[in-house]
Amino acid sequence: MEFNIALLKGDGIGPEIVDSAVAVLEKTADKFGHKFNFTPYLIGGCAIDATGMPLPQETVDGCLASDSVLLGAVGGPKWDDLAGDIRPEKALLGIRSALGLYTNLRPAKLYPALRAASPLKDEIVGGGFDILIVRELTGGIYFGDRGFREGRYGHEAYDTEAYSVTEIERIGRAAFEAAVKRSKRLCSIDKANVLETSRLWRKTTHKLAEEYPEVSYTDMFVDNAAMQLVRDPRQFDVIVTSNMFGDILSDEASQITGSIGMLASASLGASKRGLYEPIHGSAPDIAGKNIANPIATILSGAMMLRYSFGLAKEADAIEAAVDKVLNDGCRTTDLMGTDKGTPLTCTEMTKRILEVL
Ligand code: NAD
Repeated sequence: MEFNIALLKGDGIGPEIVDSAVAVLEKTADKFGHKFNFTPYLIGGCAIDATGMPLPQETVDGCLASDSVLLGAVGGPKWDDLAGDIRPEKALLGIRSALGLYTNLRPAKLYPALRAASPLKDEIVGGGFDILIVRELTGGIYFGDRGFREGRYGHEAYDTEAYSVTEIERIGRAAFEAAVKRSKRLCSIDKANVLETSRLWRKTTHKLAEEYPEVSYTDMFVDNAAMQLVRDPRQFDVIVTSNMFGDILSDEASQITGSIGMLASASLGASKRGLYEPIHGSAPDIAGKNIANPIATILSGAMMLRYSFGLAKEADAIEAAVDKVLNDGCRTTDLMGTDKGTPLTCTEMTKRILEVL
């Protein structure tokens, strides 16, 4: 099969880790007799430098014309002082919105081989855990009305959250469908004791739950969920939550797996086209040093094969290669934990994965 993939390398470690994922995808295509055509487009800080805008129209058009999109990361100190509308991060919201990607799937899996890298005690993580966070991506407070005004205490800024029944239903359905395919447990996380949007969220997901009697459904307040994730992560299988709560909880979940450098994500909408990216940022502190962990981006490539192209066997092969190198003891700096020895560079880790593939 032949597919066209738009590459958005972005800033910081973005180019290094996307190059690694491209090498793995190319090897996979060779092995299974497919052809992937990669076309790079600018996004984030590098796009601001070249065009003055974080998300040039050419990038949006290129992504819309492709079968799927692979993104590295955007942002860095160079662009931190720009106004909100032309900051690199604005491009992330823009591209998700332009592609109509309202569902974000973020697996948080603790590999048994990486138990030592998790900050949680052995008795808490046991034989590892495997959580799927389903985050709403194009609504809520990140997209609501915002601005500045004169308030009770003088000049103030405000952001607002709004969720429609339609938005809650479509993300809820994606989560129930995911739960059906896994262990049939779904926990919806909100703040229904305070927020009106959360009360509508809860009412709508409860109604949906009636359509999925095989799924064991629970609700949890977000503050409790933040605590439960470190107290007993194994209680969770699929989690569904709003844009902002999902943003925060998925970073927390990533940290208890040991490294943010391991976690992939998929953003999906109504069509097969998706946006695949690691959950971490552009890591300016290690950019250009060839020490970034490329696995999150490589696994994002595997998710692309599975969810956008229907190539499950090929995705399994990439995931198995990652498992194998971790079991063999390969570690980049972020995965070292208390291990002694010399960590692999980004290119060395990529090479080991390619060899296993
Ligand atoms: P970050 O995820 O870039 O880095 C946090 C820490 O994790 C750093 O110590 C970094 O070195 C480490 N890290 C991240 N990815 C790693 C990898 N693959 N291998 C090894 N170590 C890794 O978050 P931050 O420092 O808060 O943000 C840096 C920049 O990235 C900011 O400009 C921020 O706005 C941007 N950002 C972009 C995205 C995105 O593009 N999707 C997401 C989050 C943050």
